[in-house]
Amino acid sequence: MRHRIAVVGGGPGGLAFARVLHRHGHPVAVLEREAGPGARPPGGSLDLHEGLGQAALDKAGLLAEFRALSRPEGQAMRILDTDGTVLRDWRPGPEDRAHPEIDRGQLRDLLLGPLDVRWGEQVTQVVPGTPDGVLVRFADGRQETFDLVVGADGAWSRTRRALSPVTPHYTGITAVETSLDEIDTRHPGLARLVGDGSLAVYGVNRSLVAQRNSGGHVKVYAQFRAPLGRHGNPDQGGTEAVRASLLARFDGWAAPLLELLRQGTAFTSRPLHVLPAAHTWPHVPGVTLLGDAAHLMPPLGVGANLALLEGAELAESLAAGPGDPDEAVRAFEERMWARAGWWAELTLSGLERLVSPDPAEALALFDRLQPS
Ligand SMILES: Cc1cc2nc3c(=O)[nH]c(=O)nc-3n(C[C@H](O)[C@H](O)[C@H](O)COP(=O)(O)OP(=O)(O)OC[C@H]3O[C@@H](n4cnc5c(N)ncnc54)[C@H](O)[C@@H]3O)c2cc1C
Repeated sequence: MRHRIAVVGGGPGGLAFARVLHRHGHPVAVLEREAGPGARPPGGSLDLHEGLGQAALDKAGLLAEFRALSRPEGQAMRILDTDGTVLRDWRPGPEDRAHPEIDRGQLRDLLLGPLDVRWGEQVTQVVPGTPDGVLVRFADGRQETFDLVVGADGAWSRTRRALSPVTPHYTGITAVETSLDEIDTRHPGLARLVGDGSLAVYGVNRSLVAQRNSGGHVKVYAQFRAPLGRHGNPDQGGTEAVRASLLARFDGWAAPLLELLRQGTAFTSRPLHVLPAAHTWPHVPGVTLLGDAAHLMPPLGVGANLALLEGAELAESLAAGPGDPDEAVRAFEERMWARAGWWAELTLSGLERLVSPDPAEALALFDRLQPS
């Protein structure tokens, strides 16, 4: 296989794709708009599932390094009632490696390894079917052609426009994110409340989730039903206005739970958007999508896992050659659509139950999914 291959996006999906191709000795251009790996805060912790994200890291030859870095104790899950009563306190067994947590930054660095990413290259358009192959246009006016372009450029993918007119739609639920640093030393009471992994509290049409990252960093997500763009945006009124509006929204909840919002340092509004669960497109030679670009879902712990696995699987089947790469891409798309469609249905109905008029729905979902 000596095709000119590019992947747009250096997130989990794009990097897994590039790393597995690299392992098999095939060059790939990784086109990433960010200026460098540390250009933006990498975001919260990810749990990588045995048959999904961990399988991808295995294909990349990185499973042992992942195991050394990851936090199996981070699988712990506490559920509290809004008055602070502990409803569930689940902890993993000593050998439980079903879905350990890893910081996104650690995962990114693990995947980057020897890869030579082309940082600061923002793709604006992908045009299939030109005489020299698939044309990629960049924000600085340059253009370049490839035989295969893989769009791993996330929720608002530019590559997707070459294949599908569909764009993400708002779920009606917004998550406002904040975080606490050095929780064990600065807020020991909150550290005990959160435990080793995650804490979740489900109220009527709202929920509060706190998740431990490494180094005593905790991310807190306040989720609620609201019209798009009206709530929790720090650009509209500043940090203290957002904090006050969240405290009002969660008024009546136990004081230690509200303390998670009182102590949060900065707020980011994340209106949750999704693609339709059955999103597919007519196959176009030379271009495909994977990860969030193909199947944006609610953030219920599988998006990065799927992106990683898809990247690794597509790379592996391309590297297997010597067959027609386009046939490998077609087969990959069929497999991806079937698996992602199933997860999309599950996570969409999961989100409806986790931020629902009846908080008992959320607890019932936890009991169904979590081994006791
Ligand atoms: C709050 C929250 C919590 C989550 N928790 C989990 C979890 O615990 N487990 C899990 O599996 N998933 C989780 N997810 C989902 C997960 O973050 C995504 O599904 C995953 O990051 C998708 O990976 P990706 O590689 O497809 O896209 P992304 O991670 O979005 O990466 C896309 C990359 O493409 C780059 N890019 C975008 N446009 C361009 C362009 N035009 N040109 C060049 N580069 C471009 C971006 O800079 C980025 O680096 C969570 C999501 C959220 C919002």
